[in-house]
Amino acid sequence: MPEHASDTPIQVRDLRRRIGDLSLRLRTAGTQIKPAEPRFTDYDKIRLPGGELVGRKKVIVMSGGCSVPTCTMCPFTNFNNYGLDDGSSSESLLDQVRRTLTRTQDEPAYEVLSLYNDGSFFAPKEIPRDVQVEIARLVAAAGVKHLVVESLPQFVTEPVLAPFVKALGGVRLEIGIGLQSADELVRETLVNTRISQKSFERALSVMAGLGVDPKIYLLIKPPFLSEGEAVTDVVKSVDYLTGLGVRGMTLCPTRVSRHTVAWELWQAGQYTPPNLWTVVEAVRRVHERLAVRVACVNLRGTDFESVFPDACPACADKVVDALMRFGESGDAGDLPADCSCRPPLKVTALDHAAITARAAQQLNALERAGV
Ligand code: SF4
Ligand SMILES: [Zn+2]
Repeated sequence: MPEHASDTPIQVRDLRRRIGDLSLRLRTAGTQIKPAEPRFTDYDKIRLPGGELVGRKKVIVMSGGCSVPTCTMCPFTNFNNYGLDDGSSSESLLDQVRRTLTRTQDEPAYEVLSLYNDGSFFAPKEIPRDVQVEIARLVAAAGVKHLVVESLPQFVTEPVLAPFVKALGGVRLEIGIGLQSADELVRETLVNTRISQKSFERALSVMAGLGVDPKIYLLIKPPFLSEGEAVTDVVKSVDYLTGLGVRGMTLCPTRVSRHTVAWELWQAGQYTPPNLWTVVEAVRRVHERLAVRVACVNLRGTDFESVFPDACPACADKVVDALMRFGESGDAGDLPADCSCRPPLKVTALDHAAITARAAQQLNALERAGV
């Protein structure tokens, strides 16, 4: 993988910039500030790496959103105070966390808290350093055993993480990182996320040194890729992560949401979310070739505005259920067998020159259509 921008062909650099510009341009700030209360709260049960089943509270605080919202599929800026002045203040963030941690009698018991901010917890522009540490103190004082946050890896550095971990005391920390793909072209240009291989690997080693667990998210079928390329991309990415000793990996099939590049490509007939059978094939190959069990998320949603991976009405729900069971059991017998709707799938290598040319063409077509 070329590590320096100067090693990247000029067409790719140009494409990267154009896709990133479009992604940012499509984001829209709302007109009204949304109230300073979590935009999502939910309770479920999850299995810890040791096998124990525990309660989890998942909360997404209302924030000013991601400070680098270039990703071509990410809808989060639709739901928070992105682009609005005063969209999130330190006091509002702390107040939301305090209220989140105040246990009420009818609240289900939980020992895992997933605390998300639609972006990078460790980005100082999103959550100032002193607020990060204060949140750690509040979480530790509330008797939570495991805390999960998310961040881009460039913000996960020793000077930032060490005081946070110290303030957490005995609370185990997991950091979710949306690497999306191990392939540089796919990750930095097609997904357009700001993650270099170097910063990712550096973050992993900082985390390992401080006893923090990584959970890495990979995208199935980022915009501009075909179904067959998507399978190759996932298998290669899991292979790369396994080589780095990463255990916690989660696959996210792309959903298509408004105000994103993915949405515009979908509207133009240039892109669809992965077929559910492509998801099955990716999971099966990861299991057979690399002996790794991966869980999938975002298979279904309650968000009617977005387009989720699908198959036919006869099998779609069964395929989703089977994938969820497999995520729990790791037993290939849980994967669904077949359906007459299953489209032919030609798993293909990632031909970077061809992908770059195709993505440029698709982008040109969007521009011609006035997007
Ligand atoms: S870095 Fe994360 S939150 Fe920001 S745009 Fe990308 S996926 Fe969305
Ligand atoms: Zn079917």
